[in-house]
Amino acid sequence: MAKKKNWYSEGLRFQCQGSGKCCVSRGEYGFVYLDLNDRKRFAKFLKISLKEFTNQYCVFADGYYHLKTNVDQDECLFLKDNKCSVYEARPTQCRTWPFWPEVLTAKAWKKEVADFCPGIGKGKLYSEKEIESLAEEQMQSEAFMDKQP
Ligand code: SF4
Repeated sequence: MAKKKNWYSEGLRFQCQGSGKCCVSRGEYGFVYLDLNDRKRFAKFLKISLKEFTNQYCVFADGYYHLKTNVDQDECLFLKDNKCSVYEARPTQCRTWPFWPEVLTAKAWKKEVADFCPGIGKGKLYSEKEIESLAEEQMQSEAFMDKQP
């Protein structure tokens, strides 16, 4: 029997429009989660030790590390003039957005994701393979986070 086609088998378009919406808290105290590799990448980029980076920029809560927010505005500390100031070293969840496994359903994509993110349906066409590779990377990062001390 032929394999049923994925709803995104023709690919999905996404191009960041620089809205900064995914860099602003939607009410949660911390919203940019970091696995150990994310923290190491950041430390290297900022030329400080892992320990320094963790102490200075992270909060550990409910078993997970996340980036501190700008207290007044609930924005990621690294959002400057609506742009990511650490683009090269941005964490996995920022690199894999919007191809997160939990929103990769036709329903969520057309409604929640499209309503939230102005980049949906614009610009670059991501192939099914590229989408799955990014979703897999995000899944691995989440699984890695679950195991870290
Ligand atoms: S690290 Fe960069 S892309 Fe990620 S939330 Fe912060 S400002 Fe946005």
